[in-house]
Amino acid sequence: MSENEDLEEKKLLGSGGYAIAKITEREEIKANLGIPQIFLANLGRLSEDRFLKYHCNTCGKEFTGSPLIKYETPNEELGQGVILVEKGEYKCKNCDNIIAFYRKFNK
Ligand SMILES: [Zn+2]
Repeated sequence: MSENEDLEEKKLLGSGGYAIAKITEREEIKANLGIPQIFLANLGRLSEDRFLKYHCNTCGKEFTGSPLIKYETPNEELGQGVILVEKGEYKCKNCDNIIAFYRKFNK
């Protein structure tokens, strides 16, 4: 990603809440699948400093800053040349609820 691309604040939806983060237009196009909602799961791992706040459905409130980002890089062969490169979760810092999770493949 180029440094001089404009970042815009967007609402990113997850299964257990949502986050407000700064993303580029290119990331938005990649993540919205042609509909107005943007899904955090489609963005993969964003650095914590992109997040302004998040909302946890379990806690029922907003928290300032980034959710907890936990990820691993299994590099697991799934067959037919598909490799699971990375899998990760965005979790609430307060209650451990999963805000969103993502999977990144080699293609
Ligand atoms: Zn929570």
